[in-house]
Amino acid sequence: LGRHGALTDFGFEYKGLQFSQESFHIFAGPCAVDTYENTEAIFRALKEVGLCCARMGAYKPRTSPYDFQGHGKACLPWLFDLAGKYGIKVIAMEVLAPHHIEEIQEALEDAGHPCGIILQIGTRNAQNFELLKAVGKQQDFPVLYKRGFGLSLEECLNAAEYIASEGNTKIIFCLRGVRTHLGDPHRNLVDFAHVPVVKRLTRLPVCIDPSHPIGSKVKAPDGIRDIYHVTAQGVIAGANAILVEFHPQPEKALCDGPQSLPLTELPLFLEFVQKVRETYLDLKKL
Ligand code: PEP
Ligand code: MN
Repeated sequence: LGRHGALTDFGFEYKGLQFSQESFHIFAGPCAVDTYENTEAIFRALKEVGLCCARMGAYKPRTSPYDFQGHGKACLPWLFDLAGKYGIKVIAMEVLAPHHIEEIQEALEDAGHPCGIILQIGTRNAQNFELLKAVGKQQDFPVLYKRGFGLSLEECLNAAEYIASEGNTKIIFCLRGVRTHLGDPHRNLVDFAHVPVVKRLTRLPVCIDPSHPIGSKVKAPDGIRDIYHVTAQGVIAGANAILVEFHPQPEKALCDGPQSLPLTELPLFLEFVQKVRETYLDLKKL
């Protein structure tokens, strides 16, 4: 990560997009792919507001084995076709095991590569070294590495180093909150003050995920929702990307509905983020 030598490049290019400590991207979308209609509604909404990155899971790591586990490879053909139809360039998609990478590769090949994929390593696999090595060995896809919810920053930087040391340095480091022994009004303690720390310690673009630490759509007394408040904290801290959950009907979502913002709110969220980002860019000049 610069310290050990494997990561020496500043950022990378993928599907014509630049990812670095200067760039800024928003990956919006549902926690999990559910229906064709919902997916089309999401891609259409992204296109309407001029976004070309999305997030969505086909393979979901669920706390309970009885909860929806994602459609897996079955949804990939129509998902990729739809992405191409709406000009979506990149989808961040979690993989839970090395064979998921092959399934994605095959489905993209069959579909004629209509979009790109960034392989997401979820918080639960943050120290799954075989999976880290597998995403590190392949060069087809960049990797979005999520901090382990119970791991120190140092442990996570070493985990990212596992990816880089296998040859793939196209890595985005994502903060998504951590669990503490202190209890927390949110699902996880927001750690977005670490954005500049990770940027200082590595060469990696840093992403924030405001959806998973908060886990709900509650409003603060000022009328602004907690997800917006923490998004602002991350953006003002210099985040290079936001991974955020949106769903056309959050109450019907099969995964993480309570924290998903309604799709109709996408333009408002964008306006909010743009204002905070502009403030950050102004502050940098002081
Ligand atoms: C997700 O992004 O939907 C997810 C499961 O995130 P995390 O691994 O951070 O819990
Ligand atoms: Mn989720």
